Amino acid sequence: MSIETSYNIFESAQKQFDRIADLINLDPAMREFLRMPRREYSFSLPVYLDSGETKIFRGYKVQYNDALGPTKGGIRFHPQETLDTIRALSMWMTWKCAVTRLPLGGSSSGVAVDTHNLTPKEQERLCRCFVRQTAYSSGPEWDVMGPDIMTGPQHMLWMLDEYEAIHGVKSPGFITGKPVGLSGSKGRKEAPGFGVMIAVREALKELGLDIKKTTASVQGFGTVGRHAVQLYTQMGGRVTCIACLNHTDHTSYAFRKKDGIDFEQISAITDPFGEINKEKAINMGCECLPGDAWIEQDVDILVPAAMENQIRPDNVEKISRRVKILAEAANGPTDMDVDPVLKDREIHVIPDILANAGGVVCSYFEQVQSNMNYYWSKDEVLGKLDTHLTSAYFDVSTFARKHNLPMRDAAYMAAIDRVALACQERGWV
Ligand code: GLU
Repeated sequence: MSIETSYNIFESAQKQFDRIADLINLDPAMREFLRMPRREYSFSLPVYLDSGETKIFRGYKVQYNDALGPTKGGIRFHPQETLDTIRALSMWMTWKCAVTRLPLGGSSSGVAVDTHNLTPKEQERLCRCFVRQTAYSSGPEWDVMGPDIMTGPQHMLWMLDEYEAIHGVKSPGFITGKPVGLSGSKGRKEAPGFGVMIAVREALKELGLDIKKTTASVQGFGTVGRHAVQLYTQMGGRVTCIACLNHTDHTSYAFRKKDGIDFEQISAITDPFGEINKEKAINMGCECLPGDAWIEQDVDILVPAAMENQIRPDNVEKISRRVKILAEAANGPTDMDVDPVLKDREIHVIPDILANAGGVVCSYFEQVQSNMNYYWSKDEVLGKLDTHLTSAYFDVSTFARKHNLPMRDAAYMAAIDRVALACQERGWV
């Protein structure tokens, strides 16, 4: 699950954008405007450690485009975070909100930090410090953060608390992914993973396949991977392989059980960071393989739910001939150079901006609830999520079929076109 050092994720996102801009014949000024972020911030975050020392972390916030509404995107804590990663993620958030027809723009935030090395109190100081740097460039009507890799409800609540203290108001719509009962939305925890499998369910119907006869291999067992496995197994699918990262030695493992991994059993031996206990998994009857083995499993569905750049020219050939669907639960898991191979192999790709949109769609529902200070039942939230994502899936697949396009091209074309039109109608470009 490593990121190659020579790979620049933002350049790759721009290359992907340029290709779509050519396909839709985007006006040159609009192309120049949309291939760069509108606003970006980077700052130093000094945090007092419990030991008495002070450690300085680097933080970033990029507001990519706000033509469709207030910008929205996750904040992640990752040791290899860079401004370029956050630029790429904010660009993808812009297309993600547009393709799912949310009245939101796209942004992303991050801190270069390994939170495994910080105590909860140190993490709290880091969250508050981040908000002190951004409290006047964000807010419920301007830029709304939400959870991402290594951030969760407690981090969101600390950030909200700091924002409210600075502004002297109660403002629950400042951030999403908050704890349920403290202005969070029911269903937000499950939404990113459930969203992936709502899209897979629709894709299987389109391909005429019975979910109960399918198998899947999943890379990553954090919030997204875990709830994707939960819904898929509930719908009758069989997950035969799950890969996860060992945070102590930074190696990854894939756990395989050909007759299917039981969701409750594997969840019970997984820590809050998505690390599955190796010995207990082996005792459960799983074989333990090297982490990369998730990609070469003889399954119908592959679900990369970890990091960017996991399916590359050097490993795409390892994908089994049986694979019919690639559901991109992570952001940017596939190098754009492998798309032609996936197309030749007739693998139905559900692109990241569609497959993993469940998180932001539910965050939008949370924003709406927080701004009203009136909260819906879990069934109501998940019902609305299903309706919204099913209709986004059909928007894209209808467009793809009509113009004989791969799903990724159809999704990006629709999204970029919508954002460009909003910029034009506002009189920006
Ligand atoms: N991190 C999520 C994503 O990449 C969305 C965060 C949010 O809810 O704003 O889609």
